Formats: sequence, C-alpha cells, structure tokens
Amino acid sequence: MKLDLTDLFDNPGISQDFDTKMDLSDVKRWGNPIFGSLVSVKGHVENRSGIVSIKYAVDFMLQAVCDRCLTDISRQEHMEFSHILVFSLNREDDGEFIVIPDGQLDLAELTASDILLELPTAMVCDQGCKGLCPICGKNRNLESCNCRQEKSGRGLEILRDLLDD
Ligand SMILES: [Zn+2]
Ligand SMILES: [Zn+2]
Repeated sequence: MKLDLTDLFDNPGISQDFDTKMDLSDVKRWGNPIFGSLVSVKGHVENRSGIVSIKYAVDFMLQAVCDRCLTDISRQEHMEFSHILVFSLNREDDGEFIVIPDGQLDLAELTASDILLELPTAMVCDQGCKGLCPICGKNRNLESCNCRQEKSGRGLEILRDLLDD
C-alpha cells in the first residue's frame, strides 16, 4: 500500500490519517512466516512547519517457534513507531529518517521492516524456558529426565580467558 504524500510535503499544517489491515504473510523471519493474522496499521502523517513525520501503531498475531524448546509461539503484539520523512538526505542516514524521493511512501514495506527490527534476535516462549535436554531431547518444561548434567564446559573457560585480559 502506497501513501501519496506529495501534497502533504507541500502544505505545512495538514495531516493525513490511515487505518488499514495489511497482508504481510510473505514476510519471513527465522525462516518462517511470522504473521499469524493480518497486520492492523493505524496512524497519521503530518506536516508541522515543514517537517513531515509519521506515527503509527501495529497490532498482529506473532507466530514463531521457541529457540530453546521448539514449541510454537502465538501471541498478540502491539508496537508503535515514528519517523521523520524526507525527500533526500545530505549526510549518511542514522535510521530515524525515511527517504522517499518521489513522495510515495510504501507503508507495507516500512511496516514490515520496522517490525522485523523490533523483534528480538532470539525468540523464546518464556524467559524461564528450560529448553530441550541436549542428550535425550525431552522438553524440560514438561518433564524431567535423568540425563547427566554436563558440568563446567567451554563457556566458563572462555569467560575466564576474557577476564584475564
Ligand atoms: Zn520454550
Ligand atoms: Zn535428558
């Protein structure tokens, strides 16, 4: 979905609302589609004294797989974003500015990239998720097993090396 903002750029004081539902089912993360529903996108663009900004909120059902226990995760997400929109940049972009040379904002593309950046690098069903046993593969959240716990290990050695420096 494209928003034509050419008029808005030319006229300080005006604003434009949008309220739409987007099908972003082809957007993937962790190798899988992440949207379990249409993405509701609500917000507005305004030109205040020549500065054009966009503010919007998204609501959607996030679907993913827990990195530790591989359980399906499905939960309602709400996120809010804002950016300054410009025709061009004089210097390197710092991420806050969105450049739209022709005054046409691709709202679907912006929404997808904002959401992807907002998602954590690792997805877990719960911060306290115990994961799968590396030996027998049982889900430790659901049942315990008698496998021998691996003690010490590389992790600590690396940490010690770092502390020695
Ligand atoms: Zn989990
Ligand atoms: Zn086990």
